[in-house]
Formats: sequence, structure tokens, C-alpha cells
Amino acid sequence: MTRALLIVDIQNDFCEGGTHAVPGGTRVAAGVTRYLTGNRHRYSEIVAIRDYHYPDPGGGTEPEPHCVLGTPGVEFHPDLNLGSVVPIFEKGGDHPAFSAFEGSRDGVMLVDWLRAQQVTEVDVVGLATDLCVRATVLDAMSAGFRAHVLLSLTAGMTPQSTARALAEMRQAGAVLVEGTSDSTEEKVATP
Ligand SMILES: [Zn+2]
Repeated sequence: MTRALLIVDIQNDFCEGGTHAVPGGTRVAAGVTRYLTGNRHRYSEIVAIRDYHYPDPGGGTEPEPHCVLGTPGVEFHPDLNLGSVVPIFEKGGDHPAFSAFEGSRDGVMLVDWLRAQQVTEVDVVGLATDLCVRATVLDAMSAGFRAHVLLSLTAGMTPQSTARALAEMRQAGAVLVEGTSDSTEEKVATP
């Protein structure tokens, strides 16, 4: 088993104060930083995913502008410290993109890159549980990866949509993990 950590969309616009803020986003940014300091060894690969969009000249492709290139909103949150150079995959551009698996780096799609590294299992953290984390997890499983969601390192837009997303991910076969320390790693969340 070769495991990758996928860090999804921990950017200013998805954290408190951003244009598309997820309640708890800043907490997640700091939490992932702490998690990385103690758990880097668990992963053969650590990947960050970044949403971005071109400035909308009035075409209205994005109902709520976010992560516009050239604005602070597109930057990773300052509380997210990736610690060392990690590959960054980018998604979006001129269209809405939720799943990390829509992301590419130097023209290589995330799924192909993960397969090239012999990754078979992914842990997913980041924002938002009910949008991009959900889409990432469902795509991961469709592509044949085992997927774990580290719940304490995610945050959703609303409790209702988050509960729905968690049920959907579990239904699809994802493992929802409460806690992130070694001792709680295998303590699977109950419905
Ligand atoms: Zn977007």
C-alpha cells in the first residue's frame, strides 16, 4: 500500500474573511500544518491542490467569484505551512472545478501522476467537505483508490450539506476517520 495525502483548496477565499468562506477553514489550515509536522512519514506523497480562476470579464462563469488569479484569495492560507516543497496541482481556470482529480501539474493529470507514483490509497483533507472534498473522494474511489477522509482536518459550508456529503462518501465506500493522531487513526467514525 502506498498512501498519498491530498490537501484540498486551503486557500484564503475558502477561509474566514474570504469571498467563499467555509466556517472553520482557518482552523483546518492550522490543523493540517500541525498534522504535517507529526505525520509526514505516513505518506509516500503529499500533494496540495489549488483552485484558481481567471478574472471574470463579465461572462458570469462563476456565480460567486473566488480564487481569482492576482488576488490574495487564490493564495494558500498563511496558517497552512506545507513545510517543504510539495507538488501543487491546479484546477479551474475558465470553468468551475470541484474535484482535485480535475487538477493537473505541468500538463499531467493528478490521477496519472498518482498512478505513476504507485499510489493506491489517499487520505483527503481540506475544504470544503460538502464540495471539493466530497468530489475528490468520490472521484478517488471511482478511479480505484482507497479513500480516507480525516474529518477533523475538513470543514463544510453547512451542517446539513456536510452531513449529506459524509453519508454519500461513506455509501460510496470511503472511510471516515475521526481524529488524526496515530492512536486514533483507525477509529472509524460511526454514522
Ligand atoms: Zn473554483
